Amino acid sequence: MKSLYKKLIIVCFSLFLLLGGITGIWSYDKYWCVIDSSELKHLTVYQSGNISGSNFKNIYLHKSFIKNMIELDSMLEKNGLEIRVNQGYRHKRHRLIGAVVSPSSVSNHLAGEALDFYLVGKEKNYYHKDLKRENYSQLPKEVKQFFNDVRNSALLRWGGDFKREDPIHIDFPLNQRNRKLYHQQAKLCFQDYENAIYTYDKVWNQLKSKL
Ligand SMILES: [Zn+2]
Repeated sequence: MKSLYKKLIIVCFSLFLLLGGITGIWSYDKYWCVIDSSELKHLTVYQSGNISGSNFKNIYLHKSFIKNMIELDSMLEKNGLEIRVNQGYRHKRHRLIGAVVSPSSVSNHLAGEALDFYLVGKEKNYYHKDLKRENYSQLPKEVKQFFNDVRNSALLRWGGDFKREDPIHIDFPLNQRNRKLYHQQAKLCFQDYENAIYTYDKVWNQLKSKL
């Protein structure tokens, strides 16, 4: 009987560890790895009815890119589409799991002026493969219209038009238009993100102040 209790305790403890591990991994990006955006000086968090982070992630972008996001939002609204953003600002700590195109060393992501996404259509979602040049003719007219709207924007570029196509990427080409400002902005974004306070630090500091 005693050994049965022992086994039961071991099973319960193992289950507790397993569930704890799963919860920890699941919540890492969604909660623990979230930074306190009120402390940011150059970056900001963007969200709208048609644009949100994939897996509930926050989308960090440079503040000067927000006008472009508002423009994108109205293009999506007009065409009845939504986008889920996989990445906006990219910090060197960010993992690039599933990156389809190898990242550039002067990427506009590093200056908070770019986003990677998938499209949410009326009937289905459109990922990298669906949006590639070779499949473009099969896309529904609202999706084609959306990318034409992006092409017609004075400020935005669609990665599907790049020589090395990257159809899940949209940016403002700060790296081409003003390389000096690009480097300054990338540095400020980096410092902003490096000095940011994480949720777990904030919670911990609040707890400590109450002790
Ligand atoms: Zn990108």
